[in-house]
Amino acid sequence: MSADASGFDLIVIGGGSGGLAGAFRAAEHGARVALLEPSLLGGTCVNVGCVPKKAMWLAAEVAGRLRLAPTLGFHVALPASGTCKLDWPEFIVHRERYIAGIHASYRRRLDAAGIMVIPSFARFVDARTVECENGTLLRAKRILIATGGRPVRPEIPGADLGTVSDDFFQWRAAPERVAIIGAGYIAVELAGLLQSLGSRAELFVRGQRLLNGFDHELATQLAEDYRQSGIRLHFGHSVAALEKDGDGLRVRCEDGSLSEFFDTVLFATGRRPSSERLALERAGIAADAEGHVAVDERHATNVEGIYAVGDITPNPPLTPVAIAAARRLMDRLYGGATALLDLRGIPTVVFSHPPVGQVGLTEHEAREVHGDEVHVYRAGFRPMLAALADVPQRSLFKLVCVGEERRVVGIHLLGDAADEILQGFAVAMKRGITLDDLRDTVAIHPTSAEEIVLMR
Ligand code: FAD
Ligand code: NDP
Repeated sequence: MSADASGFDLIVIGGGSGGLAGAFRAAEHGARVALLEPSLLGGTCVNVGCVPKKAMWLAAEVAGRLRLAPTLGFHVALPASGTCKLDWPEFIVHRERYIAGIHASYRRRLDAAGIMVIPSFARFVDARTVECENGTLLRAKRILIATGGRPVRPEIPGADLGTVSDDFFQWRAAPERVAIIGAGYIAVELAGLLQSLGSRAELFVRGQRLLNGFDHELATQLAEDYRQSGIRLHFGHSVAALEKDGDGLRVRCEDGSLSEFFDTVLFATGRRPSSERLALERAGIAADAEGHVAVDERHATNVEGIYAVGDITPNPPLTPVAIAAARRLMDRLYGGATALLDLRGIPTVVFSHPPVGQVGLTEHEAREVHGDEVHVYRAGFRPMLAALADVPQRSLFKLVCVGEERRVVGIHLLGDAADEILQGFAVAMKRGITLDDLRDTVAIHPTSAEEIVLMR
């Protein structure tokens, strides 16, 4: 590469979900693309996010089924300890093999598409030029920023004694006792899977419920399911400090209370955009106080020719959002398309045990917008496997409808298979269905999903 390599149409900064999707789609349209990624291809999702998390969640689901098996009449041979424990190192071999396959597939596709991959951080020199760590300058007419985000710890004494989700994926064994700070996606997912895999998990929540932004009734039912599984929940506990005491860690809360001992404390207190190393100011790119790059509905920044997608923007930080934004952007820039990404009605799932899925407005949000026009329909039930095994876990499905015609504006599912059920119903909701459309659809029996079309 020359010291000033300029033969590119597009420079993509970041090889995660958004960056790779943008690079591939631009190359499909014939653009000459350079992609800068200093770390592993696939970014957060593939390496320290969705993919290894889902692998651990699947292992935890298997563990849950194994616990139910004896009550159903299976004579499972248990080790002397009496519990069926996961051999983490062995499972991680399977997890990492799966991820290595994704890396290899990206490599093949990048080579086939003729995309130049540069293993380096990038920073702006000006609005058309970025600099690699070795001083090489790259110029292009267009630049896509897709540098994602990273976990943050609260600024409290002893914060460095705790760990974050990136560290979780390096663990080679389940900690015996783990405290998790937070009540969002990551806190709820990791607490659920760690408890299922044999840890004693405790959640420290500064508010009064899990999963702010999700339906309140579902969050309350999930908290009950978590309690039943043995997770200890401490609501109204704002963490003030972490303290080391002998070999253990203790959580000091703002009310002065001190927790019992933990082997590990994990902060799941949110993420921040990775923009510090970009030198955005040199290109005059506007960012908010947290470092999110400001974009309009075309994913264009305030500087002509510079775009941003994914967690670096204020869009919902989800992989499919980053991918969809990048593909539509490249279709417009190089393919003559005009469609924008519709950020309304994005379905999302929390991989708790059982999972929670939601699309559209919560009951609370709908009432704020539509007042008395809102009608809510619920189905609370024990899924068949839980009933057969006589365990107390309950599912709760909710429909939020508006107006005389009962147009469906929100679907909220807590229960086994909610993660797989939601996608199809999200399509229907986007098409503007009403409650009668659901009721006109013949049920599939016996399933949990049928409850959605049978709601009265
Ligand atoms: P990233 O995937 O973070 O990629 C950004 C890339 O940019 C990184 O590879 C980084 O090395 C690189 N980079 C950073 N700075 C520079 C620079 N200066 N120069 C060059 N490169 C740079 N979403 C879901 O939809 N479903 C899930 O189940 C899910 N689970 C998750 C679980 C966890 C534990 C976490 C943390 C996140 C999860 N997410 C999930 C969110 C999802 O991972 C992110 O929304 C998604 O990865 C964002 O993609 P991105 O391309 O914006 O950024
Ligand atoms: P979230 O924004 O989901 O949750 C952050 C949690 O930390 C909230 O409960 C928040 O409380 C709490 N919190 C923030 N600061 C403090 C503090 N100082 N002390 C105590 N608690 C604090 O962030 P996550 O890190 O869990 O996840 C980041 C994003 O990644 C998610 O928003 C999601 O978009 C994505 N993700 C998606 C997943 C999926 O699709 N399944 C899985 C994992 C992540 P409060 O509510 O009171 O502000």
